[in-house]
Amino acid sequence: NLSEKLDKALHVLKGHGQITEINVAETLKEVRRALLDADVNFKIAKDFTNNVKEKALGQNVLTTLQPGQLMVKLVKDELTELMGGDAEGVNLSGNPSVILMSGLQGSGKTTFSGKLANFLKNKKTKKPLLVACDVYRPAAVDQLHVVGEQIGVEVFSDRGNTNPVAIAQAGIAHAKANGHHVVIVDTAGRLAVDEEMMNEISEIHKAIKPEETLFVVDAMTGQDAVNTAKAFNDRLDFDGVVLTKLDGDTRGGAAISIKSVVNKPIKFIGTGEKMDAIDVFHPSRMADRILGMGDVVSLVERAQEQYDEEEARKLQKKIAKNQFGFDDFLSQIQQIKKMGSMKDLLGMIPGAGKALKDVDIDDDAFKHIEAIIHSMTPEERSTPSVLNASRKKRIAKGSGTSVQEINQLLKQFNQMSKMMKMMQGGSGRKMMQMMGG
Ligand code: GDP
Ligand code: MG
Repeated sequence: NLSEKLDKALHVLKGHGQITEINVAETLKEVRRALLDADVNFKIAKDFTNNVKEKALGQNVLTTLQPGQLMVKLVKDELTELMGGDAEGVNLSGNPSVILMSGLQGSGKTTFSGKLANFLKNKKTKKPLLVACDVYRPAAVDQLHVVGEQIGVEVFSDRGNTNPVAIAQAGIAHAKANGHHVVIVDTAGRLAVDEEMMNEISEIHKAIKPEETLFVVDAMTGQDAVNTAKAFNDRLDFDGVVLTKLDGDTRGGAAISIKSVVNKPIKFIGTGEKMDAIDVFHPSRMADRILGMGDVVSLVERAQEQYDEEEARKLQKKIAKNQFGFDDFLSQIQQIKKMGSMKDLLGMIPGAGKALKDVDIDDDAFKHIEAIIHSMTPEERSTPSVLNASRKKRIAKGSGTSVQEINQLLKQFNQMSKMMKMMQGGSGRKMMQMMGG
């Protein structure tokens, strides 16, 4: 994928203290190839490398102390710029604010409608309403109701009605009458761009004049995503893009191209089927991710969100005093389990994405660890250094594991203690350095 290719392209420079002009040119050629492979439009890729080259020469890359790092930074900054400036939120100035979803069938509109409603609802002050305007498939209305139930958000539908414009309008009237601040209108899509679909979504758009029109697109569709975005933008002049299915082994090309072709910001990304798999799009983090540095900031943020703050404070004290023990390790594991799937999270750690590609990590892997820790005495948990051979044997027997597994766990524990110390600094940067990013 793109990350790996760019990784390779930049690898030459990363290690080197000195680089030559030929080296820069070679690297940029590789970068361009990687972009093309990821379905980035040819002209965009070419402009991209030309811009980086110009900036590199302007900054005298060749004479700086760590030219490799500077090049990485230049490529990253350029990628960031290409994908848009700062993250922009949705327009919630209306009363109620109407958000219209558009996009092809299967792009993830219904799922994202739910995620966005949940996201806004979690912001406490907002009371969203979901409106089901996919009149072609009865199952589509059911799907939105299921989603609404999951997140505790009301869904407005009118099963006998085959006019999506009328349903949308009735939904907005319902929202006004019932004190909803936000109305999210889910619409029907088709498998490919066609006139009928475009006419329908344009009519809804004209009739309800949404504060925000979002175009939802499956990131896995590569260059097609750009063509579809263009077709929808020509008709709707939408406000922002939602890039879904970025959890898979997705090429980054879509994110890079869409912004430059339709000149509309990517506002959100979808990273899974569950209702909390939504992230605000941050171009610079996406650039990091594409560059294989891992989305550390998101990782730390997600961790913070799920983390019991009181617990965290206690833990920090312990780490500072070198009192981090297996009980804490156990509660860490429980926290991690709360945060989402293991593979998801590890994938965000720099360099880990590649290593994990072929490994199937499931959360059952924790069961052994938990069994081992449960078989330890309180003393062994708080002071792991007392674990000698005979204690290990006893624990292995008690937990149905092996001494080897216990040794492995000890190693992991030591690594984790070290990492916790690094992360204490507050920023992910130290951690990135440690992981060789
Ligand atoms: P719609 O036809 O545009 O309404 O698309 P749906 O919301 O029904 O989504 C189509 C399929 O994609 C469903 O199976 C969703 O569970 C799945 N899906 C949607 N968003 C994501 C995502 O971010 N990641 C993954 N892995 N699957 C997604
Ligand atoms: Mg749908």
